[in-house]
Amino acid sequence: MLNELSEFLEVDYDKKKLIDKALHPTYCLRSPRFYKDALMEKCEYRIPHTKFCPKCNRKYPEKENFCMDCLVSLKHVSERKPIRDIEANPVFAFKGKNSFEDFKSILTEDNLVRINEFKFTMKDYEKIIKNIKKTSLKNMDEMIKENYVDLNDISTLGNVLLFAKSFVKVDYKSYGQVLGYFENDKIVIDDRQNSSLQITTMIHELAHFLLKEIMNGVLCRLLKCSKNRHIDVISTYILSYDNFTRLIDEYSAHCCEGRFTMYGYQDYSSFLSIVKQMDGEMTPEEIEMTKSIGNNFANTIKDILEIFIDRDLLDDIKDVFEHHNVEKPNYEMLKLENCNRLTDEGYLKAIWLIVTTGFKAAMDNIEKLEEYYKGE
Ligand SMILES: [Zn+2]
Ligand SMILES: [Zn+2]
Repeated sequence: MLNELSEFLEVDYDKKKLIDKALHPTYCLRSPRFYKDALMEKCEYRIPHTKFCPKCNRKYPEKENFCMDCLVSLKHVSERKPIRDIEANPVFAFKGKNSFEDFKSILTEDNLVRINEFKFTMKDYEKIIKNIKKTSLKNMDEMIKENYVDLNDISTLGNVLLFAKSFVKVDYKSYGQVLGYFENDKIVIDDRQNSSLQITTMIHELAHFLLKEIMNGVLCRLLKCSKNRHIDVISTYILSYDNFTRLIDEYSAHCCEGRFTMYGYQDYSSFLSIVKQMDGEMTPEEIEMTKSIGNNFANTIKDILEIFIDRDLLDDIKDVFEHHNVEKPNYEMLKLENCNRLTDEGYLKAIWLIVTTGFKAAMDNIEKLEEYYKGE
């Protein structure tokens, strides 16, 4: 008797939509006919989705072969690579008419004069930033397409990892004490940390990469040359040879970390350990100035990272963070925050100071640069 009623059945699509939405937040509805067939055959609400459309990313059950909207063959989920396994090889280029083949031809008196004259405006600076943004977007787009990444279906850590890979290679380690480091355009992250710490570490190291890339842009602009490994080594040297530039670099990285996780939780240890070992070499005012300059760089870097980290992702990152960090924010560390920054004019002067003093130091240390160069 009850069975006889089956011929009067039809699917309540509105209800189905609600239930599916709760079960699979990214589920897309297909034609009524599809559901009717699927329900009759399986007699259940949940249909396992083992295939997806490589174009619109809609999910499909195993027995389907094509996406009738996009008119393409479906892919199997096993073809989706985990973000961690995606090979990234991002290339950031700056072009100029000169191309220098070795350190000796870059580090000349003539070039020092060019650097010192500093024909460089905020417009030039903005061009550099735009170039970096464009390249990273292109890199990310390629990765998504080549690996069928479904942005709606990856974890917060996966999301951050994916955008980090639009800039640099990311490797993992499970040894040693440091949480992560950045070297030769590669970020290495310790995967024994919880995901919130991996996210913070990744953003911190990414900030180091971006500051170096900004330096590359400035040098290429001033010397009207294309970027190559020699220029890259000089930029790395400029940011690390002296405590003044190391402090700027570290402070900027700490600030970016705080912006994208939660202020009060970031770890200032690298900055503090440089200050500690300085032994009065810089006055407290000078140290504060490195923080202000660091703020200027951090603002630019945040601006670049915000292409990828929108409000939603930012909220997700904060959720992950709160979940893992039940302690109170570190108010002592918050006292280290400096909220000043330089005007455009002052900022250009700071960049001038960094590159001229750094370039001069590099001229006197070509052997050291050769060592860096070979160290790849
Ligand atoms: Zn499709
Ligand atoms: Zn650092």
